Amino acid sequence: MNRAHNFNPGPAALPLEVLQKVQSELLDFAGTGMSILEVSHRSKDYEAVHNAAQSLMRELLGIPENYHILFLGGGASLQFSMVPMNLLGPGVSADYVITGAWSQKAFKEAKLVGNPRVAATTEEDGKFTRIPKQEELQLDPQARYVHITSNNTIFGTQWHTFPNTGNVPIVADMSSDFLWRPFDIKPFGLIYGGAQKNLGPAGVTVVIIRDDLLALCREDIPIILRFKTHAKDNSLYNTPPVFAIYIVKLVLEWIKEKGGLAWMEQENRAKAARIYGVIDSYPEFYRAPVAKDSRSFMNAVFRLPSEELENKFLEGAKAHRFVGLKGHRSVGGIRVSMYNYVPKSSVEELARYMEEFARAHA
Ligand code: PMP
Repeated sequence: MNRAHNFNPGPAALPLEVLQKVQSELLDFAGTGMSILEVSHRSKDYEAVHNAAQSLMRELLGIPENYHILFLGGGASLQFSMVPMNLLGPGVSADYVITGAWSQKAFKEAKLVGNPRVAATTEEDGKFTRIPKQEELQLDPQARYVHITSNNTIFGTQWHTFPNTGNVPIVADMSSDFLWRPFDIKPFGLIYGGAQKNLGPAGVTVVIIRDDLLALCREDIPIILRFKTHAKDNSLYNTPPVFAIYIVKLVLEWIKEKGGLAWMEQENRAKAARIYGVIDSYPEFYRAPVAKDSRSFMNAVFRLPSEELENKFLEGAKAHRFVGLKGHRSVGGIRVSMYNYVPKSSVEELARYMEEFARAHA
């Protein structure tokens, strides 16, 4: 087997053991004589998968009973609009912290249905190279929520400490760093994220919503778009993305077996330390635009001295079967996405390549 070293920004690497399990169960799932792709979403066999995915997530993150865990379609992008549609309305405001392209998109949708404010932005010279400090946030105590993007996939920044928003709940888009480590969920009223980076395949979006916020959700919007509909029917109001949820369940089992989120955090810290270590050893060669205290543990972005060298770097990467290293088209350069299931061995091989490349071309 000649698997690639997968640094894709999403959809991204999955654990090999999970893929093998999917393969082994594909033709006959749980003795049904059918694949999981063919069973009813109302069957006992599927129900067990659905509920196990929820309870494993609850266990791994220590999510209390006053939060609902929903599995929806539509990607994180649908949540950019579902969140304000449910929680805002004429005259109701929310604070948005703008730290990159995804927060901008979320803000744009909120403007269509309510009166959101920008509580802070770190767009400087068209670039987002840091996370704002607490004292920069202009928070409105009357806001219904404060929206943040916990990890900025394109710009390579990440909130290391979540903001203090007083009594106003945080709503977070955790698409690109959900489950990278344990965290205290109490300040969060709602968390959402597409699965395809740190949790599983594309197709399912996780929404975790606290009861007090759920109670405030509107009921005068289309039924399918109401959080209340999906909470009441345990995400089975309509056919959920069965296959994606099944893989999420296997991924969560894998994390638990390995040692839970404390273990996951250690792995992720070690991987990021290795890559940033190389960048910092060759600061004239690998130019990282992000402020050190805002660096993402998931996506490391950097430039080389010229575009020509960047192309050479990417060309040479092919021989090592490194994939997904080209920076986002809006920013260029190189991006190393080292999500949860990118093995440490892949990161080690890339780090060595980076060292050799710098020595050969500096
Ligand atoms: N938010 C963040 C932080 C993302 O990285 C992405 C996708 N790269 C999205 C939202 C959009 O997600 P989706 O494609 O699932 O709608």
